[in-house]
Amino acid sequence: MGLFKPSKNAVEADRELEIRQKTHDSAVSLSTAQNQNTIHKLPVEVIQQIASYLEPSNAAAFCLSTRFICYAVGTQQLHNFLSGPTSKIDRRKNIEVLERAFSSHWYCAWCDRFHRHDPAHGPRNLPSQSIRDCDECSSYLHAGTDYILTYKHARLALNRNLWGPDYGIPLEDFTFEKESTTKAFGSKVNVPTQFSVSAKIVSSRLLLHSAFTIVIPPSALQGKNFYAKLQKALPQIVYGHRNDRAGHSGLFASINHAIGNNSKYTVQLCSTCATDYLVRVHSPNTDTFQTVPEAILLSIQAWRDLGDCRSPFDACWRAHGELGEAKPGFGGDTVRLTDFEAGEIRSSWDLEVPLKIAATGRENHLGRPFWWDLSSNAQMR
Ligand SMILES: [Zn+2]
Ligand SMILES: [Zn+2]
Repeated sequence: MGLFKPSKNAVEADRELEIRQKTHDSAVSLSTAQNQNTIHKLPVEVIQQIASYLEPSNAAAFCLSTRFICYAVGTQQLHNFLSGPTSKIDRRKNIEVLERAFSSHWYCAWCDRFHRHDPAHGPRNLPSQSIRDCDECSSYLHAGTDYILTYKHARLALNRNLWGPDYGIPLEDFTFEKESTTKAFGSKVNVPTQFSVSAKIVSSRLLLHSAFTIVIPPSALQGKNFYAKLQKALPQIVYGHRNDRAGHSGLFASINHAIGNNSKYTVQLCSTCATDYLVRVHSPNTDTFQTVPEAILLSIQAWRDLGDCRSPFDACWRAHGELGEAKPGFGGDTVRLTDFEAGEIRSSWDLEVPLKIAATGRENHLGRPFWWDLSSNAQMR
């Protein structure tokens, strides 16, 4: 199921930055307060000497830190840094040095361009925003059109967390709650539902919690195709992943078990997409849910690890998204197969402690260089 109706004109109409054309002009307009910084009181020759000792990544970022330093050291090291890598992965990684310098735009690896971002845009109001082809191609999670979380949102949330408020969107923009009804179990049975979603960043990884509660009338349990009907009522952001259309591994077995025992099932892990989920069944006990006699209440919570959101091609992000019209099954770039233990992602969410990711060997290239707080970048945010 695809939610987007993208237009190529939307991509072309957006004001995008051609990286190499804008690098120099943008760099010289970044800072207005460099005279107040200690480093700017140094002779130009000393600043150039400092730059000569820096690692290539730090030297490239250093020349973009202020207008004064850009004039002092030039952009040759930046040029060398950006043109050096031969692989796409390294090139995308290196280009973050520009994204970190220019807060008005974010880098889209799918388009290999910089897009302007509006700080007010979050997953809640995507249908009212201009949609690009890359919003769908870079994968997305959703609850119909009410809530569509694209890669753009995930990256901008991490950028803000890493570099400051001007660089992205706050996590509050991810929060959403809705009470509704559904006729998933037949046109004569309109049952209440509740849905909520929220996000956290723990140790530079985006975690997402979503929850869905639905009243199950006795007639639905006794009727045909109960699980197929139930699945249609569930938001993709709660139950779905990109590997197939059946949802998290073991989810419906857990639902079956919880309904059979009229209780909760233990936390389970979908290792395909790295999602913890918990199924509970209990009696309706609120005014909202007492509208269907003798019904039971089914609630499903999911805790997702969306990774560091540095690339739309990273399986940590991509494994969670809507499959749409794509072909299901193994062999693509979407299967993740984690070695997490069930409950680990939920614990990371609840306790705000890092996941045990050391064994993955992922390089942290997001740390700030030592000069970050010395330069006027702090005033640019
Ligand atoms: Zn794009
Ligand atoms: Zn899954």
